[in-house]
Amino acid sequence: MEQTLSIIKPDAVKKSVVGKIIDRFETNGLRVAAIKKMQLSKKDAEQFYSVHKERSFFSDLIQFMISGPVIVMVLEGENAVLKNRELMGSTNPKEAKKGTIRADFADSVEANAVHGSDCLENAKIEIEFFFAKNAVY
Ligand code: ATP
Ligand code: MG
Repeated sequence: MEQTLSIIKPDAVKKSVVGKIIDRFETNGLRVAAIKKMQLSKKDAEQFYSVHKERSFFSDLIQFMISGPVIVMVLEGENAVLKNRELMGSTNPKEAKKGTIRADFADSVEANAVHGSDCLENAKIEIEFFFAKNAVY
């Protein structure tokens, strides 16, 4: 069993599609092992996306991620990291496969509805960033 970190981003929370997105995970064998709604601080967002700090879109990305509350989750299941990325679809919703979360709920490459850890090593780091060990069941 693997665990991965998922964030439902401010655009999707504002559109009230939280339940529809979680349904995609649960229907496809990913169990919600931890969940919370929170408003990221600028410092949280900058630290979380620090790998992108040299990219041209970094400050826009940070402003977007703090523009409203997010839902942060630990998803658990077989091949959870890859399974989550498949269910999410491509970063740019215009390139995302039909039936993926980003194809159905994302507005743009920036406001793209969900985040998912990109590998098992980063999943561990991202889960520890948001959840204490005894908050994941
Ligand atoms: P995430 O890490 O959020 O799951 P991802 O792994 O599909 O997304 P990354 O390359 O890690 O994509 O980019 C992180 C986030 O930065 C994207 O989800 C998107 O919100 C934003 N982003 C990426 N590329 C661009 C771009 N060219 N212009 C604006 N925003 C971008
Ligand atoms: Mg990424």
